Amino acid sequence: MITRRKFSSLFGLSILGNSLKSCSAGVMTDTTNSFVSGNLVISTWRNPTANQLAFSALKSEDKSLLDAVEVGINTVEDDPKDQSVGYGGRPDKNGEVTLDACIMDSKGNVGSVTYLKEIKHAISVARLVLETTPHVILSGQGAQDFALENGYIKENLLTEKSKLEYDEWAKEMKYEPKANIERHDTIGLLVKDAQGNLSGGCSTSGMAYKLGGRVGDSPIPGAGLFVDNEIGACTATGVGELVLKTCASFLCVEFMRSGLSPQAACEKAIMRIIDKIGAEKQQVGLICCNKKGQIGAYSIMSGFVYSVTDNDSTQILEAYSYSL
Ligand code: ASP
Repeated sequence: MITRRKFSSLFGLSILGNSLKSCSAGVMTDTTNSFVSGNLVISTWRNPTANQLAFSALKSEDKSLLDAVEVGINTVEDDPKDQSVGYGGRPDKNGEVTLDACIMDSKGNVGSVTYLKEIKHAISVARLVLETTPHVILSGQGAQDFALENGYIKENLLTEKSKLEYDEWAKEMKYEPKANIERHDTIGLLVKDAQGNLSGGCSTSGMAYKLGGRVGDSPIPGAGLFVDNEIGACTATGVGELVLKTCASFLCVEFMRSGLSPQAACEKAIMRIIDKIGAEKQQVGLICCNKKGQIGAYSIMSGFVYSVTDNDSTQILEAYSYSL
């Protein structure tokens, strides 16, 4: 069971307490001392349905951890209202929706697709890469050909809403990485079963209006996602370039390996981004968990929420952040 505490308690618990500048007001959650011993699903942003579908799959005897990851993420990829994942995603500079996704299992197997066009379920194609090929990453045309050979169909992923917004943007074509634009960006979803086995996945249409050909952090193992079944799992959302430059998900798992709690590991990985690269007005959010079912979440800017489902409930929680 995840317990809630007022933010003021963080300073006593955070290993990086003196590096925190400020935070938004209100109830936040410190999960440092909470353990979820049974099944657990956590995901970036607000995804109650995705979490619950993944949780049901975890409970089902004939479903695997990867089934849980896939079914959860598919539902967000299907949702046209979510303009940063799958169908309805915002396009690149050329007006094309291009998707990145990655999935990783408890044995350390990884599958990934980058720059995938016209195929809605990028996470499912990434899973096929993992399960049916000797490779880790398929990209662009090759990824699409592979999906089509495996029975996927081409679909127009650009919705009217995303096209109208793009047409407006295209009048000036001023690119600016924007954080928390709709309280949702990449979905990264991590699962843990009652035995402490871990898997995870992430899927995104990437930064809106990015250059054609740009690949973000999400499909790159160790950047947008990393799972080590001996230790823990982490996934990222936000400005992918910052995450790529620091291998932030791998870093966070390595911090847990060195003995830090998931919360402390997330904070330290975010501080690495800030210290090494600087992150003025740019957002990155990390969520992670360890084998014991402790959870961590932290972001550069405020406003990053994440979803946690255990046997008792699904909660949408606001992460602690470095700045307002
Ligand atoms: N991390 C994603 C990317 O850079 C975007 C996001 O999460 O908003 O492609």
